[in-house]
Amino acid sequence: MDELLAIGEFSARSGLSAKVLRSYAAAGLLVPAAVDPWTGYRYYAPGQLPEAGLILLLRQAGVPLSEIAAFLRDPGPGQLRHWERALDREVASHRRALAEARGQLGLLATAKGNPAGQDGGKPMTTMAPGSATDRGEARATYQDAVLVSPPLFAVADGMGAPPGGEIASRLALDTLNVRFAAPYGAETLAEAAREASRAVWERADAEPALEGMGTTLTAVAVLGGAEQSQLAVVNVGDSRAYLFREGQLSQLTHDHSVVQELIDSGQLAPEQWRTHPERSLLTRALGVAPVVDLDLSRPAVAGSARLLLCTDGLTAQADEAEIAGVLSAFADPDQAAVELVRLANRNGGDDNTAVVVVDISPQQAS
Ligand code: MG
Repeated sequence: MDELLAIGEFSARSGLSAKVLRSYAAAGLLVPAAVDPWTGYRYYAPGQLPEAGLILLLRQAGVPLSEIAAFLRDPGPGQLRHWERALDREVASHRRALAEARGQLGLLATAKGNPAGQDGGKPMTTMAPGSATDRGEARATYQDAVLVSPPLFAVADGMGAPPGGEIASRLALDTLNVRFAAPYGAETLAEAAREASRAVWERADAEPALEGMGTTLTAVAVLGGAEQSQLAVVNVGDSRAYLFREGQLSQLTHDHSVVQELIDSGQLAPEQWRTHPERSLLTRALGVAPVVDLDLSRPAVAGSARLLLCTDGLTAQADEAEIAGVLSAFADPDQAAVELVRLANRNGGDDNTAVVVVDISPQQAS
């Protein structure tokens, strides 16, 4: 038995206490190489040290003993990826709860008349949001997503074979929401969007069934301001953000699409894009490459205004005059959003539609 290690020495070399080693043996893990029948002393082989190290790491990762035992009988990288995804889901759910708590804190500060809940005590822009989504009359799947998490608002239009598109748009917005944290600013928003893209890319890379999935992203953060509202706008793809003031719609984003490039180069008249056969071909998307190329702008808005974020399910079905008509007719942001989705469906409903409407108004310094 001179090559074997007594439990005390094995414990010292493996970093696992004798008590832990005994409990592992009871679970069928790291069973001693020999037990002295007279004294009951346990002995381990030096060759068991690597397995002890692996078990210690898996325990540190929070994996239950029963799962480790099954894993060691049939080890492989697939199970590690499975545990990794479970961890991602758990962390994401904790982060979502924290993000919601942050939103609640903002509401609490507003309710108490204390605008210091945001951006170092700058006067806050008041925000009244509404949103609506619909699968569309002619679609079997739903791949759009919305995010309403003041001061952050976003829409995403997923792409890829089911369930890829649906997962991509939801994962992008969940990641964006979690990563957009104080200090709020345009660069924070851009970095959160890059994180969202990485999350989609890595997930698609890890799961063969999700290969090629991606999404558009249009996100607006309302950053407050005394006389005017400072906005940060991030865009990738052909979802859009508009500003609506005094009956006029102005587009805050520039589409990344084949038809937009044809329009920009003078080869297509702007009014012809809706019927072009390559209308839905994008030149940029989120999550389809390790690094995303996104547009970031910082418009300032004086006075009260209405923000519209929407996927192409709305803009491909309705022209700007129709959209402006609905935004003028319905004062309540939720109702306006619902009516815009109805408009898209009345005009054919060829696609999923996601709409966010936000009324913003800078708080006057008192
Ligand atoms: Mg679409």
